[in-house]
Amino acid sequence: MPAFVAPPFLDSVPADSYFSVLHPLVFAYVVLLCGLGAFQGLLFARKKLFFGCPLCGTSAHATHSTRRYLWLDCPKCGALEVSLKPGKTRVRKYAP
Ligand SMILES: [Zn+2]
Repeated sequence: MPAFVAPPFLDSVPADSYFSVLHPLVFAYVVLLCGLGAFQGLLFARKKLFFGCPLCGTSAHATHSTRRYLWLDCPKCGALEVSLKPGKTRVRKYAP
């Protein structure tokens, strides 16, 4: 009796398939993306995350966000609310 029984999803890809070669690469890519997301989350939690201002391009401090909006504090434009819908960037200015 084997000491380790592989889960069924590991047996589903044949060893001579192209997917068996791509599987470690895709796994490494997903781990890299998760690590970058975690790093960005840590920067945001420590108030050290900056984005380019959509109006002037200056580095703007990301102050807080929701699921739909991101608030930036641009040194030139002031406080901005940026919509995060893909393809529909909308900027609202709060301070002169
Ligand atoms: Zn700006």
